[in-house]
Amino acid sequence: MSAITPPSAVRQVLTALQARGHLAYLVGGCVRDMLLGVTPHDWDICTSALPEEVLTIFPHAEPTGLKHGTVTVWEHKRAVEVTTFRTEGSYSDHRHPDAVCFVADLRTDLSRRDFTMNAIALPPDGLIADPFGGVDDIRNRLIRCVGEPERRFEEDALRMFRAIRFAAKLNFTIEAETLAAIYKLAPLSAALAVERVRDELEKLLLSSHPELLGTLISAGLLDRYLRRRPEGEAPFSRIALLPRKALPRWCAAAVLLKEAGCIASVQDFLAALRLDNRTIRCSADAAALLEASVPKSAVEWKRQLRDYGVETVRCSAKLRDALRGGRSERALAAVLKSGECFSMKHLAVSGDDLLALGLRGRTLGDMLNFLLDYVISFPGNNTREILLNLAKGTEE
Ligand code: ATP
Ligand code: MG
Repeated sequence: MSAITPPSAVRQVLTALQARGHLAYLVGGCVRDMLLGVTPHDWDICTSALPEEVLTIFPHAEPTGLKHGTVTVWEHKRAVEVTTFRTEGSYSDHRHPDAVCFVADLRTDLSRRDFTMNAIALPPDGLIADPFGGVDDIRNRLIRCVGEPERRFEEDALRMFRAIRFAAKLNFTIEAETLAAIYKLAPLSAALAVERVRDELEKLLLSSHPELLGTLISAGLLDRYLRRRPEGEAPFSRIALLPRKALPRWCAAAVLLKEAGCIASVQDFLAALRLDNRTIRCSADAAALLEASVPKSAVEWKRQLRDYGVETVRCSAKLRDALRGGRSERALAAVLKSGECFSMKHLAVSGDDLLALGLRGRTLGDMLNFLLDYVISFPGNNTREILLNLAKGTEE
């Protein structure tokens, strides 16, 4: 076992459940991560206690998912999810079980979990429970379904996305039978809620192996959002050259898909996946800037910054460096560092100053634009005096 130990709040929840005669284990992602020597980002507990019992044991518990047996216990400001051992009924929509049933034993609970690496339980003291060989699979860095892969993906098509997303995040290989089932059953994913697909895709893009987007696509999991699959190998590995932030990585994925002829428009693709408006707008603009010629001078950079804003121009510069090579980001950083004016905000005169000179409406707006243009070309002249004189002189 790794040197990582659960926080005391989590241990307290486990021992409180045990003290009342219930079985209680750490389970799922936290056990997998501990075995990998990675500090878990959340801690899940499974227990033989029924949700109502969990609610009575812990005064600061909230019934967050009672239907599925989940209660969130707050200990020392930490949220710990406690879920009653359960099994799941049939899955008529390939995503949600029609009913869940609470059960008394751990093995049944572990058998409903997606992958062997996620179906290991660890009691506060005593032996690790690993009925499906998850520890060996973690050792061999393999993602393998618990039970028969085709049946597990028929039950819940999202598991196919999860398999590839975990492979990208953990740098694991998908076991052959599990992978074959993904290729076979990918069409079932057409029924999944867009938001679930988007969230899985984002986790994959933010992982250290975003190039597995290629696997997702060649399996057919994104067919619903694409005109066609790429003909050759699309250079998705370049996405890894971008910072691990949603905006540049979504934008890069969309640009690469467009260049491979898989989508007609960056904007429409991201909108179909229900990305937020800011990501859609910035990505569409950054993609358009990528098509335009590279700014060759500080003045050209400042014009872009004026027209598109810092976030979009920065995104397009990062994108250009990662997808095409070059040093755009560095050139842009130098312009931003210079502190030279490229927006109305930093102009030495304001609309009020021009009002005081008697300018109104459209004339006032045109004058502000003219002054900004002037200052972009002559940054040393961004002073109130020079600009007011210029405004007066030009008006006369
Ligand atoms: P992460 O690090 O992404 O949180 P995780 O394994 O904790 O990984 P969660 O989505 O938090 O993933 O789910 C917790 C546990 O619940 C999983 O480890 C797995 O045992 C089980 N689980 C989650 N989603 C599914 C699913 N769709 N089908 C079967 N079991 C699932
Ligand atoms: Mg988790």
